[in-house]
Amino acid sequence: MLKIENLHVAVGDKPILKGLSLDVPAGEVHAVMGPNGAGKSTLGYALSGRPGYEATEGAVAWRGEDLLALEPAERAAKGVFLSFQYPLEIPGVPAMTFVRTALNAQRRARGEDEVSAPDFLKRVREAAKALRMDFDMLKRPLNVGFSGGEKKRMEILQMALLEPSLLILDETDSGLDIDALRIVADGVNALRSPERAMLVITHYQRLLDYIKPDRVHVLAAGRIVASGGPELALELEAEGYDKFLPAAA
Ligand code: ADP
Ligand code: MG
Ligand code: MG
Repeated sequence: MLKIENLHVAVGDKPILKGLSLDVPAGEVHAVMGPNGAGKSTLGYALSGRPGYEATEGAVAWRGEDLLALEPAERAAKGVFLSFQYPLEIPGVPAMTFVRTALNAQRRARGEDEVSAPDFLKRVREAAKALRMDFDMLKRPLNVGFSGGEKKRMEILQMALLEPSLLILDETDSGLDIDALRIVADGVNALRSPERAMLVITHYQRLLDYIKPDRVHVLAAGRIVASGGPELALELEAEGYDKFLPAAA
């Protein structure tokens, strides 16, 4: 479903990803783990099409289509969703308005009608309830003054409403206490489906106790240097990333 081959990404003139290859079949959840600064967020940005993180070499196929040839909005319309490590704060734009705008942009790009106000309200209420979010919070400016956990729930709420087919979660566990982690993981697990692929980017193994990956990959020095089953995450937790670094250099 997702096929990344020999991906190279430079930020400015600094090479960050240097020949990364990775396949995620439909219905599977793959974890990408790696030390700080390894390029995990860069991978998420490159897949979502963030300006400044363009590929200089390599190919990414998504459902057989050349993902790298698409504009960020076209990728979103095709169901690519990146949940940010550091969610954006937007003063002046109520969270609910932001989500509705994103949903309608996706629909327009797909040639669909915009969502009606009552329908949107119903869906956003249901999603907020499932994530145990206070509905009034959604009337506040997006993420402004939200706690780390509230911002992450906000990301998952957007994700639930946009129903993406390729989910990329970047350090969704950072800033979450155990209760919030469970709720967020439940939200993500509810989106597991044979039609979807998920990439869970994380520095720590903890999140993977709640979101069980089919495969675990180690990203170091800009490439995938090891892949294995869920036991690889436990091994990394116990032994650290050091043993993968010389092999990568
Ligand atoms: P990770 O998410 O694995 O911690 P990142 O993808 O955030 O790693 O960063 C990888 C490397 O790229 C780091 O050395 C980081 O400093 C650098 N980098 C990322 N974004 C930028 C940027 N906008 N400007 C300069 N350097 C960047
Ligand atoms: Mg980091
Ligand atoms: Mg990161």
